[in-house]
Amino acid sequence: MKIVSQPEELVHFRHTLQGSVGFVPTMGALHNGHLSLIKRSIAENDHTVVSLFVNPTQFLPSEDLSTYPRRQEADLKLCKLAGVDAVFMPESGHMYSLVEPTLCAPETLGYALEGLRRPGHFDGVLRVVLKLFNLTQPTRAYFGKKDAQQLYLIQNMVRTFFLPITIVPCDIVREEDGLALSSRNAYLSPQEREDALKLSKALKHASRLVIQKEFHAKVLECTMLDTLAPLHVDYARVLRRDFTPLERVELGNTLIAIAAYVGSTRLIDNLWM
Ligand code: AMP
Repeated sequence: MKIVSQPEELVHFRHTLQGSVGFVPTMGALHNGHLSLIKRSIAENDHTVVSLFVNPTQFLPSEDLSTYPRRQEADLKLCKLAGVDAVFMPESGHMYSLVEPTLCAPETLGYALEGLRRPGHFDGVLRVVLKLFNLTQPTRAYFGKKDAQQLYLIQNMVRTFFLPITIVPCDIVREEDGLALSSRNAYLSPQEREDALKLSKALKHASRLVIQKEFHAKVLECTMLDTLAPLHVDYARVLRRDFTPLERVELGNTLIAIAAYVGSTRLIDNLWM
């Protein structure tokens, strides 16, 4: 497995590859969620490139950039065992210059939900993903549905910038008890780990109500807030998959999304219906 830290080196390596290239961008601290994307890429492509980069431009000054879990050695081992061809782990000084054009997420979506609490976050995400796409020139790129808004904004960027890349959305991987895997779960104390289950429970409860033909978005949202109490909830919303609001669930086109704080850790989870 090749380990690459310089952008030019990645471009050079890419040019040596023949056939399809799958790309899995991550911020490292790999878990089985990341691994599911990596395995799918390996199954569907001739080559797989994984990036491990804690991207500074997607963190707000108040966020956890300096404490974000970093486990380079373990990550490299996992990638090697999985059969990854190359890992790209650049330094941020090699990815950004002080004078470069900026990229902004569309105002309507980039600054709603996740973007409302984290203004500028998606600008940073799109900026780094576009750079990574340009360096890797993948045939397919793999993203988790766990970050549903990120996934939608990247699909939108690929479509509107005419990037010749297929975006592959991947299902959310959960612990046995329902907790969605996240690198930030490492921050949770045993009690908080227990409290964090309220997110997946609220989603499950809402989906059970939908199966019982309760389609009113407001009713489902209120029920989720009840289940989530006493957590500090950022949002618990029933939306269309393009993030426009709806009054009643449209089966096959609905996303139920939650963001809540468990202690000081902000967790997100969602369900596609
Ligand atoms: P991150 O390292 O958090 O930036 O995540 C890298 C990729 O892994 C993103 O596309 C995430 O959506 C995806 N991902 C993170 N957690 C999960 C999960 N539990 N299940 C599936 N994909 C995930």
